[in-house]
Amino acid sequence: MRAKLQPYCRAGILSALATAVMSLGTAHAAPVTDEAIVNDAKSTADVLSFGMGTQGQRFSPLTAINTDTVKDLVPAWTMSFGGEKQRGQESQPLIHDGKMFVTASYSRIFAFDAMTGKKLWKYEHRLPDGIMPCCDVVNRGAALYDDLVIFGTLDAQLVALNQETGKVVWKTKVDDYKAGYSMTAAPIVVKGMLITGVSGGEFGVVGRIEARDAKTGKMIWSRPVVEGHMGYKYDKDGKEIENGISGTTNATWPGDLWKTGGAATWAGATYDPETNLIFAGTGNPAPWNSHARPGDNLFSSSTVAIDPDTGKIVWHYQTTPHDGWDFDGVNEFVSFDYKDPSTGKVIKAGGKADRNGFFFVLDRTNGKLLNAFPFVNKITWAKSIDLKTGRPVYDDSSRPGDPAQSGDGKKGSVVTSAPSFLGGKNQQQIAYNPTTGYFYVPANEWEMDIWNEPISYKKGAAYLGAGFTIKAINEEYIGALRAVDPVSGKIVWENKNYAPLWGGVLTTAGGLTFYGTPEGYLKALDAKTGKEVWSFQTGSGVVAPPVTWEVNGEQFIAVASGWGGAVPLWGGDVARRVNFLEQGGSVWVFKLHKS
Ligand code: CA
Ligand code: CA
Repeated sequence: MRAKLQPYCRAGILSALATAVMSLGTAHAAPVTDEAIVNDAKSTADVLSFGMGTQGQRFSPLTAINTDTVKDLVPAWTMSFGGEKQRGQESQPLIHDGKMFVTASYSRIFAFDAMTGKKLWKYEHRLPDGIMPCCDVVNRGAALYDDLVIFGTLDAQLVALNQETGKVVWKTKVDDYKAGYSMTAAPIVVKGMLITGVSGGEFGVVGRIEARDAKTGKMIWSRPVVEGHMGYKYDKDGKEIENGISGTTNATWPGDLWKTGGAATWAGATYDPETNLIFAGTGNPAPWNSHARPGDNLFSSSTVAIDPDTGKIVWHYQTTPHDGWDFDGVNEFVSFDYKDPSTGKVIKAGGKADRNGFFFVLDRTNGKLLNAFPFVNKITWAKSIDLKTGRPVYDDSSRPGDPAQSGDGKKGSVVTSAPSFLGGKNQQQIAYNPTTGYFYVPANEWEMDIWNEPISYKKGAAYLGAGFTIKAINEEYIGALRAVDPVSGKIVWENKNYAPLWGGVLTTAGGLTFYGTPEGYLKALDAKTGKEVWSFQTGSGVVAPPVTWEVNGEQFIAVASGWGGAVPLWGGDVARRVNFLEQGGSVWVFKLHKS
């Protein structure tokens, strides 16, 4: 396992070992194995994957910090990400072998001693001037495999570093940043393969999910998620072999529009070992102007299930067919099981709080819709989701008008539509607690004025064909952390927040639900009742998901702090409403105070 120098070694052995280690050039951490990654949700001493387990439940079985003891939760340490550049810190920390690995804005990654916060190393990726991140210079986290820590960069590269030294082991270009590609999602590892998506849907990129050898970065397969594109697999020499078209060319896309169809997979994927499926959300079809592209525009604004062994799409479920509101369906699909109330049968399901305002429950073995219900108060684009057909019942008066039908052909009719394009939920991750049976959803109540304009594709330019402004619906709050029962479709409780929520959720067997607010608080709520039982001011807005782990029975909580993300850049009236919020860049760690 771990080649570690013990203090009781005799001098001769010590020097021999030291020489051996030096000759290798790097010290060795305990390697992160596939088995450890599959077991991550249950293993409490580490956090090896984004989602705290590849199913993405963000649930911890730990109970030391619970509804009784949480009042004694105090900071253990905090460290700054430094630098003059701050902006949104959306990263989920990873914990392994005594170290914390946390990415930061502008494609940086840090390794800290997880007990003391001592900085072990940092890597700052050199970014070219022309990067085009649509929605802030964020990064949501890294992946661990073997002795590597791997993350994606804003210039669409993947970088793998040695966990001990921070030295680059491999680096590879994913795509052309000048065409609008970037990477912001945390990769996951499935069967030794690094699974990644791409960002850039606002620039007419083509979304895809790819698998690479996590140890070397060599391509294994690539599966585009715009219908009509060819998938590829790669032999051991890196030779490209055609691996089937995704869907049928021109079936749901007119003309050549599929070539720049968007559907960016910018939030990455989850993986369910039980069904052996990768679940990836896909973004809006490009351009936003839906009149330019009649049809469902598969597989945009969908969840796709991909077989990791073949790289093929096994099933898809489109949450917003023919999306006209930028309802990126990238939201994470979280595996969970429940007992059917009428038959008592255990259902292998998955839950997704979609940007379009509906919560979807699917059979995760085949993608069939089981339940769909609103998790926000105001939805105008659809009246409901038809549980029989699986399709939305549109309200056509809520679709922004066709500019070709307007007097001068330049601007279609303006509609007020809810949710806003920033979504009932955006990048902020939900959590599922099997002890309560609830999903915890960081929801937002906002609407928008939106209209369409003519647009044609130009490489590296925004490809929207729309204008918009986002507005709050209620004066007193936009955000609401909601407990949602996926079986009954009821909102069980909510905790309102003035600013829009933009950070993910953690829930525990200690009966707690943790999440952060743009106002800077990390909060703990009673997972059953929603009552706030603890909060701490981190000094800047929290737009990242907390994690928890234990060392020798002592439980820790960590979260990154640093206001930013899409709201200040795209939020219109809402951006002005929250312009009092200050930027930052740090990570905080908490533990119970021992008196
Ligand atoms: Ca774990
Ligand atoms: Ca989008």
